[in-house]
Amino acid sequence: MEGPTEGRTEGRTAIVNIGRIVSGKLSEPILAGDAILVQDGRILETGFERDLDLGGVTRIFDVQGNAVAPGLIDGHVHPAVGDWQPRLKIFDWLEAMLQAGTTSAVSQGVVHLPGRPRDPVGTKCMAILSAKLMASFRPGGGFKGWFGTVVLEPGLREEDFAEMSRHGVGLVAEIGAGSGIHKPGDVAPMVAWARKHGMKVCIHFGGAAAPGSHTIGAGETLAIAPDIICHLNGGSTAAPWRDIVQVVEETRSPLELVYNGNPRRLREIVELLGSRGELDRVFLGSDQPVGIGFSPAAILKTVVMISSVCGIPAERALALGTGNTAAAFGLEEGRIEPGRPADLIALDRPLGTQAADALGSIEVGDVPAVGMIMVDGKLTATRGKNTPQPTKPLLIRAGGG
Ligand SMILES: [Zn+2]
Repeated sequence: MEGPTEGRTEGRTAIVNIGRIVSGKLSEPILAGDAILVQDGRILETGFERDLDLGGVTRIFDVQGNAVAPGLIDGHVHPAVGDWQPRLKIFDWLEAMLQAGTTSAVSQGVVHLPGRPRDPVGTKCMAILSAKLMASFRPGGGFKGWFGTVVLEPGLREEDFAEMSRHGVGLVAEIGAGSGIHKPGDVAPMVAWARKHGMKVCIHFGGAAAPGSHTIGAGETLAIAPDIICHLNGGSTAAPWRDIVQVVEETRSPLELVYNGNPRRLREIVELLGSRGELDRVFLGSDQPVGIGFSPAAILKTVVMISSVCGIPAERALALGTGNTAAAFGLEEGRIEPGRPADLIALDRPLGTQAADALGSIEVGDVPAVGMIMVDGKLTATRGKNTPQPTKPLLIRAGGG
C-alpha cells in the first residue's frame, strides 16, 4: 500500500545498549546484537555496537538495557476526519495511540461520521479525502495512517476503482460492517474491479457490530474470497466455532484477532492456529474507536493477552502485532531489518512488576512501559505517556559524527 511520505528524518543515528532486539519476524523473533544504526529514516544495520561503524553518527540513543521492537501497527481503526472521531467525541486519539507505542494504523473505513455519503461519488470522495489527508498529516509528530479505504456502496463502477487507485486508495473496507452491500453476488464485480486496480479486499467475519452491520458466516466468506478476514474472534460477537474452523481450514487469508472481540475465542483461535503451525496468518487490530470504547494501548494489551493467557513467548506475540500486520497489508513497516522504515519502540519493565524485564512482564500479564518512540528515524517521544511508568529513562548524547 502507498504510505505517508512526509516526515522522514535525514542523517545517521544509533540506538545502543539494547537488551533484546525484537525483530517482528515470527520465525526469527530475536536478533543477535545490542545496537541499531539508522540512516535517513531507515534501518541501516543491526548488530553488536563493537562491530558497527558509528562514524558519522550525530545522536546516540542509549536505551539502558531495554528491549527494542518495531512500532506496533493497528490493522483496524475507524477514523472520521484526521485526528477527530465523533463516535466518542474524541480528539487526538491517533496521537494517543502513538503515545502507547502504536506508530501506525490501517483504516477499515469511515463508518462513524454523521452524514457520511452513501452514494457512489460520496463514498469514493470520502476514501480519496482520507488517503490524501493522511499522506501529509502525522499526528503527534510521527503517527502514520493508511486511511485510503473505500466502503462499498451500490452503484460504484470500475472507473471509480481506477480513479480511487490513482489517488491512494488501496483497500476495500471490511465488507459487512457498514457497507451498503455485502451479499457475495452483489459485491463480486466490485471485488474483481478492486483487485484489478491493486486494492486488497477485507471482510467483517462473524456477528454484527454497529447498527447497519451484517452477520457474515463461513459460507459468505468463502464465496466472497477476501484477501483479508477481519474479526475472526468476533466483532464483537463471535461466529459459531464450526464457522471459524472452516475459515481457518479452507482459506489461506490473513486472519485478524481484534481487541474489541471475544477474548475466549481469541484464546481458542491462537491455540488452533498454533497447533497447525499457522500463527504467521494472525495479525492484530483494535476496531476502535467504537461505541464500546477506546483504549490507546489496545494493540499492546492484545499482545499481552496473547502472550500471558495463551502462553506465547512475548517476542512471538509482538510479531503478530508488527511484522504479521505489515505482511497482511503489504506495508514496509513492522520489522527490524536493513532498509525498512525506522519505526522503533523501546520496551521497559513497568515499575512494580515481578518480572525481570519488559518481555517477562508481557508474559506474566503486565503491560510493559514504552520508552523511546521513533518513527521514520525521528524521535517522537522519550517515553510513552499512555503506558505505565518505565524504570530506565532514555539517555541521549551526541555522537562523534
Ligand atoms: Zn471494524
